[in-house]
Amino acid sequence: MGVHGVADAILIWTDFIVVVEFKTVFEPKKNWRKNGQTQQALAYASLAEERYNKKCRCILISLIRMKNQKFRYHLLEVTDEKRIFIQKKIESIRDIIKMEKLPNSSAAPEKCVQCEYLNYCNDRNF
Ligand code: SF4
Repeated sequence: MGVHGVADAILIWTDFIVVVEFKTVFEPKKNWRKNGQTQQALAYASLAEERYNKKCRCILISLIRMKNQKFRYHLLEVTDEKRIFIQKKIESIRDIIKMEKLPNSSAAPEKCVQCEYLNYCNDRNF
């Protein structure tokens, strides 16, 4: 795929895998296409499929439990439709890089504070 990433955990069974992501902030949306964290986990699923040569059956996004909070998680099946969507996303990101265009950002402070690029990002100044 020509991209790389590090999932928080990958559960490997004989014939399938499950990608696990731990988040401090996560609000599952009905439309997974509108959720960057879900798309990130789906991208990890595609990478893991390539790396382990096994289908990723689902992604599990687990909300890190704070004091007195109940354990919460979100389980999403990985389908061919989602794989194609992620592949197209990666291609569009490659085009942005090739054309050296700044992408539109819908990032909000709660997203930026957990972003590993915050130190390098010229869009945010915290
Ligand atoms: S810090 Fe920059 S790269 Fe990271 S989410 Fe915010 S705007 Fe995006």
